[in-house]
Amino acid sequence: MAFENLSTRIQTALSGLRRKGKITQDDVNEATREIRLALLEADVNFKVVKDFVSAVKTRALGQEVMGSLTPGQQIIKIVDEELTKMMGETAVGLNKSPHIPTIIMMVGLQGTGKTTTAGKLANHLMKTEHARPLLIAADIYRPAAVDQLKVIGEQLSVPVYDEGTSATAETIVTNGLQVAEQNKNDYVIIDTAGRLEIDEQLMTELKNVKQIAHPDNILLVIDAMTGQVATQVAEGFDQSLDVTGVVLTKLDGDTRGGAALSIRAVTGKPIIFTGKGEKLTDLDNFYPDRMANRILG
Ligand code: GDP
Repeated sequence: MAFENLSTRIQTALSGLRRKGKITQDDVNEATREIRLALLEADVNFKVVKDFVSAVKTRALGQEVMGSLTPGQQIIKIVDEELTKMMGETAVGLNKSPHIPTIIMMVGLQGTGKTTTAGKLANHLMKTEHARPLLIAADIYRPAAVDQLKVIGEQLSVPVYDEGTSATAETIVTNGLQVAEQNKNDYVIIDTAGRLEIDEQLMTELKNVKQIAHPDNILLVIDAMTGQVATQVAEGFDQSLDVTGVVLTKLDGDTRGGAALSIRAVTGKPIIFTGKGEKLTDLDNFYPDRMANRILG
């Protein structure tokens, strides 16, 4: 389960407070010290942890009055609310274009799950909106990425526009968008190239594709298992492309939770979806409050 250790440690830190009738400054200090360590061990960004602890302390010691809750329960509620805030407060959906198609550009490092997520998203849109998406295969560098997307398209009965790997990404996207217009697809999902790390050539290509496609959404696909590295990658992509949101993949294998907890606060960009497995149905909307509740158990 994601956040396993973090969850246990925060729950332990708070359990002593739960039934207390009166809470001292020392109690608050001790609980926040434990939570701080747990968050740092979960690989949450240092600054994010600092702001969180300071907000919890200020509120807990400021004697907020919350109806019938005991002081211990009040602190738990404060921690819950501040964790939710850290992850962005409310759920954020996709930007919709006023006219079809709504264009979604997937970006991210190689191996993060970009191609799989493009398929998951197509499936999600068909299930929730009866959408008729078109996938565009513009990852021309990773061997087999185009074929992988075509296989996914077949599994979902979703058309995939591709020109193999010899045309440029810019040409493929230009032509793919024309096909979407002709066929009146309501969504276009563009799978783009990734690299093992951010480089200038990749960013130039992605900027060109952005300029051609005018995407309503640029979704940065991030591997949750890479923890704080993920937040650095997010900052890098965001600086060049101004992404609109994040898809956090491999949450099923992420026992720490650092990326999920840091990305919003570090980049200011919302997590829109999470991936929890390799299957094309393994995609969920992201709800900060539900995630905070899960951590607090
Ligand atoms: P790309 O290089 O970014 O296009 O990455 P791929 O879509 O090829 O995915 C890389 C690997 O990660 C594949 O084996 C996927 O099945 C796997 N993968 C993608 N998303 C998830 C996820 O949410 N959970 C798990 N466990 N595996 C995932």
